[in-house]
Formats: sequence, structure tokens, C-alpha cells
Amino acid sequence: MPGWRGILAEDGCYGPQTAKALTFFKKVLGTGVDGRCLDSATEKLLDEVHSGEFWSRSPDGSPRHLRQAGQEDAYQRALASGHPLREERDGLSPEQVRRVAASHPDRLVRYRGFEARALTFKRFLALEKAVAQGFPGHRLAITCTTGGKHAGTAHGEGRALDLVLERIRDGYRPDTHEFDSPRLEELARQSGFETLNEYLHGSPWWTGPHLHAEAWPEP
Ligand SMILES: [Zn+2]
Repeated sequence: MPGWRGILAEDGCYGPQTAKALTFFKKVLGTGVDGRCLDSATEKLLDEVHSGEFWSRSPDGSPRHLRQAGQEDAYQRALASGHPLREERDGLSPEQVRRVAASHPDRLVRYRGFEARALTFKRFLALEKAVAQGFPGHRLAITCTTGGKHAGTAHGEGRALDLVLERIRDGYRPDTHEFDSPRLEELARQSGFETLNEYLHGSPWWTGPHLHAEAWPEP
């Protein structure tokens, strides 16, 4: 369950801990705050979370489940800023990202199969370089951009990336990366991101150990 850090042993009973967890889940999903009732809509969402479908995209390509206030509006506004070279399958090359960012930093573009603002990916490229030096044998994987579920509009606007550090050799991402995460967070800040270290700190939108990084224009 996203964001729920408590461990519940399965005992077949609907106890106070189950009710607490269900209240939390329904609050996150915006399906109501009364945790006493497992209604069919919530049950369907729980199934989607379990199968992984919850985090996928809708058939028209737009992110699903942008339920935090303002996220969907923010995404629509970002879309209106254009998708240069969107026809390319996985998006722009690093060189193209830098070029678009120089002239249109607020444009929503595709890179590595994800979409975000050009400025966001430009800072990601800087961070990637720093990670190559700081964590030999590892690379940064993007796990989410415009589909993310944090409060506020950063994901919807294409300003936020969810990142994990993985081993290049086998793509292994053990949860123990919490030990490396303060250094990763520091590099992200040096690359111009505001961060939420969800390797170490949970949040109501917690989806697993990762670094949430937001790129905002300089004041
Ligand atoms: Zn995030």
C-alpha cells in the first residue's frame, strides 16, 4: 500500500489497524476518509495498486490518477506549452534536451520515454553526470515524471522526477540504498533540484524508496 509503513500481519480479522490503514489509503486516493467501509471503488483501486496498473498510463497517454488538487489542471497547462519532436519514440537526445532547454525551458518534452519540462531534464543530465562520478558502477533511473502523486502540482507540471539509483550491471535496486541516499540528495541539490528523500522519509504519497526531485526556474 503506497505510503503505509506499518506492517500488518494477516490474521483474517478486520481490526483497528486494518481500519487505520484503509482510512489512510482512501485519503491518499481521494475516495473518502471513512475507513470503516471497504467499498467496491476502493477495492478496485487496491487491486490496481497490487497489479501495478495503478501507476500506468491511460490509453490516450495521459497520466492516470492525478487526484491531488490541481495536478490535472497543471498537466493540461504544461501540455499546452508544446511537445517539440514528440514523434521520436523515446524522445529527445541529451543534446536536443539542452538545446530546447536553452530557448524554451518550460516546454514539456520527452526524454528516455518520460515527459517533463526541458529545464527538468536539463538538470537531470547534470545530475546524471555527477552520479556517474559519485557512484561508480551505478546509474540513475527515472521511475516517474508527470504521473506522480505527490501533493502540489510539481509532477503534473512536469517539474518533478522520481529517481532511483541502480547498479548498471543488473539493474539491481535494493532498498538498502537508503545508506547512499543523503549523498544522492546532495548531488541533486547541487544540480539545481529541490528534493524529498523518500529513501529515508516516508510521505503520504510514498510509493517505495526513491528520491523525489523538483526543478524550478531560478528566481
Ligand atoms: Zn515524486
